[in-house]
Amino acid sequence: MTSSNSIWTVGADPQIEQLIRQEKERQMTSLQLIASENFASPAVMEATGSVFTNKYSEGYPRRRYYGGNAHVDVAEQLAIDRVKQLFGAEHANVQPHSGSQANAAVYMALLDVGDTVMGMSLDHGGHLTHGSPVNASGRFYNFVSYGLTEGDERIDYEEMRSIALAERPKLIVAGATAYPRRIDPEPFRKVCDEIGAYFMFDAAHIAGLIAGGQHPNPVPSADVVTFTTHKTLRGPRGGCILSTESLAKKIDSAVFPGNQGGPLDHVVLAKAVGFREALDPGFADYAKRIVDNASALADALANQGFRLVSGGTDNHLLLVDLRSFDDDLTGKEAQEVLDLGGVTLNRNTIPDDPRSPFVTSGVRMGVASVTTQGMSSKEMGQIAEFTARILRQRDDDSAVKAIATEVADLCAKFPPYSD
Ligand SMILES: *Cc1c(COP(=O)(O)O)cnc(C)c1O
Repeated sequence: MTSSNSIWTVGADPQIEQLIRQEKERQMTSLQLIASENFASPAVMEATGSVFTNKYSEGYPRRRYYGGNAHVDVAEQLAIDRVKQLFGAEHANVQPHSGSQANAAVYMALLDVGDTVMGMSLDHGGHLTHGSPVNASGRFYNFVSYGLTEGDERIDYEEMRSIALAERPKLIVAGATAYPRRIDPEPFRKVCDEIGAYFMFDAAHIAGLIAGGQHPNPVPSADVVTFTTHKTLRGPRGGCILSTESLAKKIDSAVFPGNQGGPLDHVVLAKAVGFREALDPGFADYAKRIVDNASALADALANQGFRLVSGGTDNHLLLVDLRSFDDDLTGKEAQEVLDLGGVTLNRNTIPDDPRSPFVTSGVRMGVASVTTQGMSSKEMGQIAEFTARILRQRDDDSAVKAIATEVADLCAKFPPYSD
């Protein structure tokens, strides 16, 4: 770069250009089974990469601290209106930079430091922001937790109620990051009414399944619903908060100026795009295909000898207990060798895992991305077979590499993007 007003292009920075090319190649030639990922549409990516990235707009539509926000105001209002329509919400805040930021803002809006909160136990599927000691949520608030039943590994709603009656939390959080079953908002609402607590539903993973009519919409029963826009909802990376009108002011001021400065206007614009896509009647079909694919993959994995936590899935993800397949195999080892074979997923603790969270006895798989690519039940069978073959031959490098080629051949038949 010689002059200060030269326009940088990616081509002027070969290291970055190469990284983009390599990452694209990786995404196109291997299976993306990380349950929190998806392929955003070209429209979402175009909005994210647009000139909206240059703008600053602290505040809210028509109440900004900076000038020049005529178009940003329209974009943010569009995102708000669309997401309210999508979920039937009274109020929406589309500014949280991520799901974690959305949760932090809700806690700040509704709680005082030291208050008791109840969430799902982390080793039964709850999220880091539901009271992990290494997260701000666990540092600032007194989290108590409910978990799964021992037998069928579903949320133990009765235990949840009795812990709530004993601990009197000011807020109860429903929602999970590694729970393959439907979450019923009603038992949470009832318990919250019984003890006078707020009810927050963290729909980060399943927002797309709710939008597509596959899972119950928590908006009518929860005081607040938070979610990420990039998982099953398939928008840009980011967070969103829906609430009743009565909590609107508290929520908005907890997001800005409480937790954040200026919003990511390019991402807000892209959220408007993603919400529009989710309002399209075709999105319900996408959500249905996700659920069908996940259950096909669950059946196929069970046939390969894997035990599924809770015996199967109602949503987009599966939690696989590796011990029935091979008692010596850890989640960490499985994740690493599967990555070499072109099957990308993450290791995950299983309920009451005897191994540490860094090692684990399980892996988590999600089908939102492969479903976006157009794969269906036949390919789910192939994915289960690739997974089992890679793990069985994990000590044979060349066999694993050969399977990676087969995986790439499968992926080539389902390009997520047309170019
Ligand atoms: C992914 C997730 C989040 C956090 O989202 P980030 O955008 O990664 O901060 C919060 N809650 C749940 C349940 C999640 O699964």
